[in-house]
Amino acid sequence: MSEYQEKAKECKCCSKHVPLPTVLREYNGTVVCPTTFSNIVEYKRLWESFGSRPMGSIRKHFSEYVQQIVEQSIDKN
Ligand SMILES: [Zn+2]
Repeated sequence: MSEYQEKAKECKCCSKHVPLPTVLREYNGTVVCPTTFSNIVEYKRLWESFGSRPMGSIRKHFSEYVQQIVEQSIDKN
């Protein structure tokens, strides 16, 4: 197993997809790939602009994993 495969395991969305990330980001202590990180930032921005959980037509564009991380970050506030 390569170094990248080993690192990518920390992002739960990445253990299966290719290409694997060569750089990982961290959001609230959760290690994620840059793609997931961008999605988290965007979903969080939408949530804050609505002031509540975005409607299903918006949520469907984000993975369960992204939604879960954002919801956890909001619960803490
Ligand atoms: Zn990923």
